[in-house]
Amino acid sequence: MGTIICQSCNNTIDHFENEKVSTLYGKCTCCDDKQKKASK
Ligand SMILES: [Zn+2]
Repeated sequence: MGTIICQSCNNTIDHFENEKVSTLYGKCTCCDDKQKKASK
């Protein structure tokens, strides 16, 4: 099982079934929201 981790706050966002990849980095909805607002 793999884990998706927020690259901004290191929170675990989600889990997924994948034999090759154990960890993916993404953004949780909270940080994604902040960055959208900050970029404008
Ligand atoms: Zn986050």
